[in-house]
Amino acid sequence: TGIYHSLLQLGDDFQIPTRHDLDTSKYVLSQFPHPDHAESRVALIDSATNHQVTYAQLQRSIRAVASGLYHGLGVRKGDVVFVLSPNSILYPIICLAIFSIGAILSPANPINTQSEIAKQILDSGAKLVIAAPEELHKVATNGVPTLLTTRMSSDYSLSIEELIECSDTLEFPQVQITQSDIAAILYSSGTTGISKGVILTHSNFIAIMILLKWSVYASSAQNDVFLCFIPMFHIYGLAFFGLGLFCSGITTILMQRFDLQAMLDSIQAHKVNNLPAVPPVILGLVKHASKLRCDLSSLRRVGSGAAPLSKELTEEFRERFPWVELRQGYGLTESCGAATFFVSDEQAKAHPGSCGRLIPTFSAKVADIATGLALPPCREGEIWIKSPTVMKGYLKNEEATAATLASDGWLKTGDLGYFDEDGFLYILDRIKELIKHNGYQVAPAELEAILLNHPQVLDAAVIPLEDEEAGQIPMAYVVRAAGSELSEEQIIQYVAHQVAPYKKVRKVAFISAIPKSAAGKILRKELVSHSQLQKISK
Ligand code: AMP
Repeated sequence: TGIYHSLLQLGDDFQIPTRHDLDTSKYVLSQFPHPDHAESRVALIDSATNHQVTYAQLQRSIRAVASGLYHGLGVRKGDVVFVLSPNSILYPIICLAIFSIGAILSPANPINTQSEIAKQILDSGAKLVIAAPEELHKVATNGVPTLLTTRMSSDYSLSIEELIECSDTLEFPQVQITQSDIAAILYSSGTTGISKGVILTHSNFIAIMILLKWSVYASSAQNDVFLCFIPMFHIYGLAFFGLGLFCSGITTILMQRFDLQAMLDSIQAHKVNNLPAVPPVILGLVKHASKLRCDLSSLRRVGSGAAPLSKELTEEFRERFPWVELRQGYGLTESCGAATFFVSDEQAKAHPGSCGRLIPTFSAKVADIATGLALPPCREGEIWIKSPTVMKGYLKNEEATAATLASDGWLKTGDLGYFDEDGFLYILDRIKELIKHNGYQVAPAELEAILLNHPQVLDAAVIPLEDEEAGQIPMAYVVRAAGSELSEEQIIQYVAHQVAPYKKVRKVAFISAIPKSAAGKILRKELVSHSQLQKISK
C-alpha cells in the first residue's frame, strides 16, 4: 500500500490511556516513583550549584505553583502563559503547574530579541509572562497584564520561588481538563514562511511521554544518569527533560545552557551515563575532548537529534569513544519531537547515516515530490508521518495548517528521504525553507523581510550554507538599489541588530536578480547550487 508502519510493539505496560479526562501533568505525576521512594529519589540536580530536588519535592512544588497561579494570579483554563528562561530546576515545575490547571504553555528562546519576544507574546495571546530576572528587561509590559520572575530578584516583586513558599497551604485547584485540550504552543516555521504557533494537545504530550518511557526501557536506560543541556523551550528538551524522564524515575543533571568544558566536568562529577545531544556537540566532543581534562568513562549512550549527523562524524566519534553507543533520532516540533530512533547500538552500527526506524504508533509515507503518490522502499520523496503525537495545527493559520496537515492526518514534514527494505529511514535533504543553525530554527522568510526593509535593498533571498561547526549558516543573496555601495559587512550588521545571535546572516553575495519561478517563488535550490559552486571555485 506504500505505507510504512512501525515494526516495534509497545507491549501491555505502555498502552496509551484512552481515558478522556486526563492531562499531561496528572499523567506525569502518576508515573512518579512510589511515595515510599519519592522522598529519597532525586529527580534533578543543578550542575552549577549541586542543588538537588527529590521527586516528592518536585510534586509539592508543582502543586504549590499551580495553586499560586490559580488562586493568587487568577490564571484559568485556556490562558496562555509565556515562559522565557534558560534551563533551571524551576522550568519543569512551571510547565507541569501550567498543564495541571489547564493553562497553555508557550516557551521561547531567552536569547531572542525584544521584538521577536513581543511578536510571540502577541501571536500566542499570552495573559501571563514568567521570565528569568535577567531577561525581564526584554518583556515589554505593554499589553501583558502580569509579569512574574522565575527566581527572586531585587527589581521585581513576585517570583516563582516565592509563589512556592506562600502557596503550599492553598487548596490544589480542581480543573476539568481533557486530553483534547490544548497544552502548549511552540513556535516553528514549518515548511514555509515565518514562525507559527504549533498547537500541541494533552493527548499529544501523553502519547510522547509513554513513547519516551518505552524507549528508555527498550534501551535499558532506566538506571542511567542523564545530563541535560538541551533547552527546554525546544520540543527536544521539553519532551525529554521537562516531562518525559520523570515518568521513568530518572535522575537528571541540569545545565542552564551548553558549555563544552562545563559539560565534561558534569559528566565526570556526576558519573553521567546518558547524553541526549545535537551534532555540533558531538563534533565538539570529537574535536576537543582529547585536549581537555576529563574522564568520560561513565558515558554509555549519546543520542543525536534536531539536525543531520554525518556518517563521517559518527565514525570519528565511535573511534574516539569506542565504549559509547551513538544513536541518531529524527523528529520535529509538529510531531512532539519524535518519529524514528534506534533501539540498539548494533542496529545503528549496521545502518550508518540512518535515523532509525519508526517509533511504535507511527506510520509513514514517502510521497513522490511531483505526484504525491506513495513510493516503495529505497525511492526518495517527502516524508509524511502520522501518529498520536502529531500537532492539531498551526495557531490562527488555516492556510499553513491545510498545507502541512492532510485531512486524513498525514503530517508533511518537508524533509526529503527514503526508507530501506528493512524500514530504516535516511534523511537526505530539506525541501522546506528551514535553516538549522546549531539545531535551532532560522526561517529565511523572517530574514528576507528584514533585508527588504533596508532602503538600499531591492530584493533578497536567504539560503542555508553548509557549515562544519554549526551544520548550516544563513547566507543572503542581495540585489542592491542602483548606485548603492552597501557592503557585505553593513548588511551583516544591519540584520544582526534585529535578530537573536543564532539567526544572524553570516555571509552575503550580491546578485543582479533573485531567480524566481513564474509564480514569483524564490528558486532557492538555484541559489544553493550557486553558493556551492562559488565555494568550490575558491
Ligand atoms: P524542529 O521542529 O526544530 O525540531 O526541527 C525539525 C527539523 O529538523 C526536521 O524537519 C528536520 O529538517 C531536522 N531534523 C531533525 N532531526 C534530524 C535528523 N536526525 N536528521 C536530519 N534532519 C533532522
